[in-house]
Amino acid sequence: MLLLAVAVILPTVCLLWFMTQAVKNERLAVKEKLGAVYENQLSKAIEENLSEDRLSLNLSIVAADGVVVYDANGNVTFPVIDVEESEPNSELFKETFKLEFIEQKLDEAIVEYQRIRKVADDENSRFAAEIAEARCLDKLGKNEEAIEKIRQTMSKYGDGDISLRSQKCRGKMLLLDMIFKSEKKGVEKEVNDLFEYSMRGMLADEDFSFLGRKPQADRYIPSSLQVFALEKFLEHVNKLPSDQELNKRIKRAERQISLVETSIEFAEIYQRSTFVKNNNILNSKLFSLDGKRKFYGQYSKNSSYTRLHINEWETVEQWFEGFIGEIKQLSSDFAIYDDGGRLVAGKNSKEKPFISMELGGYLSEWRAELYLDDLAFDNAASKQSTIYIWTGVLVVVLIITSGAVATQAIGRQIKLNRMKNDFIATVTHELKTPLSSMRVLTDTLLEGNLKEEGQRDEYLELISKENERLSRLIDNFLTFSRMERNKQAFVMKSTDVREVVDESVCSIQTKLNKENCDFNVNVCEDLPSILIDKDAIVTVLVNLLDNACKYSNGDKEISLNVYKAGDSICFAVQDNGIGMSGRQVKKIFDRFYQADSSLSRKAEGAGLGLSIVKFIVDAHKGSIEVNSKQGYGSEFIVKLPR
Ligand code: ADP
Repeated sequence: MLLLAVAVILPTVCLLWFMTQAVKNERLAVKEKLGAVYENQLSKAIEENLSEDRLSLNLSIVAADGVVVYDANGNVTFPVIDVEESEPNSELFKETFKLEFIEQKLDEAIVEYQRIRKVADDENSRFAAEIAEARCLDKLGKNEEAIEKIRQTMSKYGDGDISLRSQKCRGKMLLLDMIFKSEKKGVEKEVNDLFEYSMRGMLADEDFSFLGRKPQADRYIPSSLQVFALEKFLEHVNKLPSDQELNKRIKRAERQISLVETSIEFAEIYQRSTFVKNNNILNSKLFSLDGKRKFYGQYSKNSSYTRLHINEWETVEQWFEGFIGEIKQLSSDFAIYDDGGRLVAGKNSKEKPFISMELGGYLSEWRAELYLDDLAFDNAASKQSTIYIWTGVLVVVLIITSGAVATQAIGRQIKLNRMKNDFIATVTHELKTPLSSMRVLTDTLLEGNLKEEGQRDEYLELISKENERLSRLIDNFLTFSRMERNKQAFVMKSTDVREVVDESVCSIQTKLNKENCDFNVNVCEDLPSILIDKDAIVTVLVNLLDNACKYSNGDKEISLNVYKAGDSICFAVQDNGIGMSGRQVKKIFDRFYQADSSLSRKAEGAGLGLSIVKFIVDAHKGSIEVNSKQGYGSEFIVKLPR
């Protein structure tokens, strides 16, 4: 039994363990499977939206928000910052400026400026003096004369150095102001002239289209002045009737202003090019730049120049639009980090990401992360897990049921074995008694020394009785054995009840007709004949009468009443014997059951009689009723249907 318990418990525990492992593994497998799918989709989204091919146009100068160009020595060439517009010789102009601006003696100032022009030995001072003269003329109301003067001066001087170029630019602005004050003749020409002069040699988009092109540094004006001049251009251009060509210029001027302003901001931070050591980098990756806002840089380099493109995050974000749209479809919980680890889209999550992928290409070191909560995996794994759990439950139930069935079968086998052992012991015991008493009697008879004549008959009668008992015993054993093997065949015949009763009584008569036994048989008149196996029913009655005799002591009162009740014929055997308890009554029909099973008991028998009785009665579709009280007697009523 212990073994059986182990055989059931061990596989059950193992199965439960396997099951939990399987469910756990299923979750892992689902996670892995989902991981592969998501990874695939993510890399596809990256490939479709952020591949080098897709980004190369965006990363070109056309989309740059700012540009810084370094020369081969790593110094900034564009934007032009930190250029001191060398003032015209201040000593020379000091007194004259006083006359013009403080004392407002303009005529005297004009004479002085003309003198300076003659004595000055540098071009810048001469140019400054001429422009100052025109300014004074303008202040004196000689507007046209002033305009003419500036125009003449402009055409007289070449490009010169950056300082002169700056003065020329300022001169052009002054000229424009003057013209707008007057009759405005030739305004358009002057407005366009200012635009062209400010943009000259400067970073218009096309100047940066090819890395190999040399910036025309010898034609630059300082970048802050360029912004100023372009703003002046915009101020005046708005006063002119709109025209397609002008509109284009307005757009270019606006873009240039913003480009230059951003460029100046970064040229001040990144004053030296330390971006790369090796040459001939066409396009580097996009990296985060220092600064207050989120700016990104990318550089290209050849042997002469390094060009740094600057993009605000707002610009870069537009390139990400398609990608962000696709990533959102994969999971609403995502994050995109730039190369500096700053979050640029999605939300910051402290959890471990389900998938983290580098964007690669121009965006190397940029990362996209996807988060999925455990619930998603549980849901995906639940179907398979349910199958596992149910299979497990089914197998556990099966193991337990088969264990229970096996326990029962083994129990039955054990009981049967014990019964068989008991049976053999009982049979031997029961056979031994009549045999040994018969042997003693026959030995005595054979010796022939009998004292009285009547003794021989008495001995013979005793032998016959023992014989009868032996036959009954063996009859019972045989019936039982046949019954056990299901070989007992009943031959049903219409039989007179009286005949059955007589035969039964006859076969047990010697036992019942004793002095201390009062035996009565009452058979009702007019009983119909019944369909029975006569021999079998005789066995029933003989067994019952035999028991009545066996289990009664002292003065025995035994009766057999046969009567009709409803559709049945009843055979009631009554005694005044030892009776039985209710518990015993429940078991008496079991095979080998004996209320007193000790071998030392007085009554003979093997505990088979009543089980045979029950078997026969059942085969006749009858029933058997027992009324008994311990110490008072018992009544067995066999009811057989007609
Ligand atoms: P046995 O061979 O022991 O008589 P039975 O099957 O005929 O076997 O009876 C089973 C048991 O029922 C008996 O051992 C006895 O204890 C009890 N029993 C049967 N008939 C009677 C009776 N008339 N009075 C008291 N006990 C009885």
